[in-house]
Amino acid sequence: MDAQTEELFGRIERRNPGQPAFLQAVKEVLSSLGPVLERHPHYADERIIERLSEPDRIIVFRVEWLDDAGRVRLNRGYRVQMSSAIGPYKGGLRFHPSVDLDILKFLAFEQVLKCALTTLPMGGAKGGSDFDPKGRSDSEVRRFCQSFMTELFRHIGQFTDVPAGDIGVGLREIGYLFGQYKRITNEFSGVLTGKGVEWGGSYVRPEATGYGLVYFAEEMAATAGETLADKRCLVSGAGNVAQFTAKKLIEVGAKVLTMSDSDGFIHDPEGIDAEKLAWVFQLKNERRGRISEYPERFPGATYVPAAASGATLWSVPADCAFPCATQNELSEADAARLLANGVTLVAEGANMPTSPRGVARFLEAGVLYGPSKAANAGGVAVSGLEMSQDADHLSWSPEEVDRRLRLVMGTIHANVRQVAAEYGHPGNYVVGANIAGFVKVADAMMAEGVA
Ligand code: NDP
Repeated sequence: MDAQTEELFGRIERRNPGQPAFLQAVKEVLSSLGPVLERHPHYADERIIERLSEPDRIIVFRVEWLDDAGRVRLNRGYRVQMSSAIGPYKGGLRFHPSVDLDILKFLAFEQVLKCALTTLPMGGAKGGSDFDPKGRSDSEVRRFCQSFMTELFRHIGQFTDVPAGDIGVGLREIGYLFGQYKRITNEFSGVLTGKGVEWGGSYVRPEATGYGLVYFAEEMAATAGETLADKRCLVSGAGNVAQFTAKKLIEVGAKVLTMSDSDGFIHDPEGIDAEKLAWVFQLKNERRGRISEYPERFPGATYVPAAASGATLWSVPADCAFPCATQNELSEADAARLLANGVTLVAEGANMPTSPRGVARFLEAGVLYGPSKAANAGGVAVSGLEMSQDADHLSWSPEEVDRRLRLVMGTIHANVRQVAAEYGHPGNYVVGANIAGFVKVADAMMAEGVA
């Protein structure tokens, strides 16, 4: 960053003390914007970056609910509405004990630029709670979701703010949230995405982030004259994004060697095939079990507990890496190990999973590196398609949605590469994604004027 940008970042830092994840996300974007600020000084004159890193509004609320023993429980709920410059606020809800304002502001900031990249008219937001659905019964989760929506409903709406799922929020939670919204407002609308197809959801929404990630990775590989067929792939996580990333990788002929959860990872040297993956789907989505059970069912595999030796799945030799669990899960040391083992492509399914030094390693090494705001935009893109179907009261076929998803990912890929080249960084997806997303939102902010 040049001196002027350093000074700008210093101001943002002082306004947001104790928020390391948010500042990490802002810094990552700022460090790409030098060429665009030089070419278009009016963005600095209009203080676009500072305005973009200040949420339109933040809603924080108490969520009280009764557990199965009839005891009163208390959590905190949030919605960070970051920017509606190019469309209604859009972004997931995360239920995880680690959720706080810092995490949600980083996710909402990333979401603004990601939504801009999709070419669809959506702003950026993120929300959630420090509630942990793990180990809770269905009725406890239902009561929590109902209480959460009893406050959230007044801040969202199909033309205002349209939440979706994220970590800890899947079809079950979206169902309870949607049911409560409908109960309170007496309105059946597209206020949430990720709904079941029978009640206003879109085909391919559950698959969208993972499938989109693989489509993006295929485009990246094609720039080197390669395909993903027969490539040894590391996938982290075992939730929504990881499951459908693994599924599509298997479909395109790649070999998936690993999956993980917060307790540890499994390494299956023979590859997780379709049948084994179906078992993982059942384990995680129906039984809500732990990945440590995998080697009991498939003895060729090994399980490494996270706390054991500090070993991470990124030490398994492979050609491609798909971090799909959570932020900062891939450190500089992990990046170095991946590179030493000859990895040639990294595509991020999770949001900001690679530490800043890890990203720098990948860029220095010149491997194909697809940052999350471009590579995992398929989820929100199909959420945008779900909003269109809801607004028109119709439902497209799975083939039609998948075709559009592929098209969106191809367009994002081409746009990011073109912008990177235009600003003097050919092949650098970080620079391309940050500048392309920023310029679109910045121009909308300029057009809409300062109130
Ligand atoms: P899920 O809750 O379905 O799965 C999350 C997975 O990551 C689980 O396997 C979980 O393990 C693991 N995990 C979560 N936190 C940690 C942690 N602190 N350390 C290690 N492992 C962890 O969430 P999603 O698959 O929906 O989301 C995964 C990532 O993808 C997130 O970064 C999310 O923001 C991003 N994303 C999701 C989209 C979507 O459409 N769902 C869209 C775009 C991005 P465990 O079960 O043990 O907690």
